[in-house]
Amino acid sequence: MARDRILAGRERPGDDSIDTALRPKRLDEIVGQRAVVERLEIAMEAAKKRGEPLEHILLDGPPGLGKTTLAHVIAREMTDRPLRLTSGPSLSKQADLMTLLTNLETGDVLFIDEVHRLPKVVDEFLYPAMEDFRVDFTIEGGLSGRVVNFALRRYTLIGATTRAGMLSGAMRDRFGHGFHLEFYSPEELTTILTRSATKLDLPVTDGTLDIIARRSRGTPRVANRLLKRVRDYAQVRGDGTLTERVVHEALEIQQVDALGLDGLDRNFLTTLVKVYNGGPAGIEALAATMGQERDTLEDMVEPYLLQIGFVIRTRQGRLATKDACDHVGLPYTEPTRTKTPDNAEAPDQQTLF
Ligand code: ADP
Repeated sequence: MARDRILAGRERPGDDSIDTALRPKRLDEIVGQRAVVERLEIAMEAAKKRGEPLEHILLDGPPGLGKTTLAHVIAREMTDRPLRLTSGPSLSKQADLMTLLTNLETGDVLFIDEVHRLPKVVDEFLYPAMEDFRVDFTIEGGLSGRVVNFALRRYTLIGATTRAGMLSGAMRDRFGHGFHLEFYSPEELTTILTRSATKLDLPVTDGTLDIIARRSRGTPRVANRLLKRVRDYAQVRGDGTLTERVVHEALEIQQVDALGLDGLDRNFLTTLVKVYNGGPAGIEALAATMGQERDTLEDMVEPYLLQIGFVIRTRQGRLATKDACDHVGLPYTEPTRTKTPDNAEAPDQQTLF
């Protein structure tokens, strides 16, 4: 299953305990994302000075880059109460959200993961709850429902999304701050891995964590997950120490190549090149040919391939670049149609704030 693959930025079963153990607790422990951290520091300091809760925050970026981590950190820095967590798909009706909202204390931080996947009826219910801190709740009964107006305490909503472009304009406008998370550099990932190895009490030889970092497709969750797999291998096939040999062998077993691509990424590229002659090919067509869900490709495969310049999104569809063809060992054919970059097709890249 694509969602179970080792390189998925999305959370997988078994990630929980290690994610919690390795997650930075305070803002100064956050590695990278300097622009976001700086703007956040100013916003938090200003809100504290005014004695007010922070304005609502939208965090967007591919899975595994630290959106949930940042939300926990913000809650810890702003209040002495823990973050309240929920997610778009788990809020199927107004009443689900109603319970959460009416239980919030002043200054509490509510985190809604995958906020772009809120059902429309819940999405709209949230507008006054965000803007005016009140909700109009419909109590079913009799022939018609009765609408009751509830006042809420002032809280901060943090919405996280991998698809900012899929949010309604009305929802987007109600966030006071918007932060876009970027992929991490190999150096930043090495720093994260060094901290993780220390926390896990793992002996490592020089340079080994760099190898893992370079194959983690810019994503801390992937880096920590690969570290766990390498640790297993080192304990079974070695003496527990992470050496260059152990890391290379362990990553080979996981079928992660030198650029951090796995079978699904390579399948995407070879399908694009072999079946669609390098493109342009629509994402739906690619998903159907590969037997994958469109969401899986858009969330978990494409962002990194776009980032490293292996795929270009155009109005006509996806194109494989020469570098991509070289990487999968297939001949490159110059595309026949125009290569107009299409910003409307790349909503995640838009500047929202
Ligand atoms: P997202 O919510 O964007 O999917 P998470 O916040 O759950 O991602 O991050 C996944 C894991 O990656 C965390 O548990 C943490 O260990 C690690 N991580 C994420 N961002 C950072 C960071 N900036 N510095 C250190 N570790 C990080």
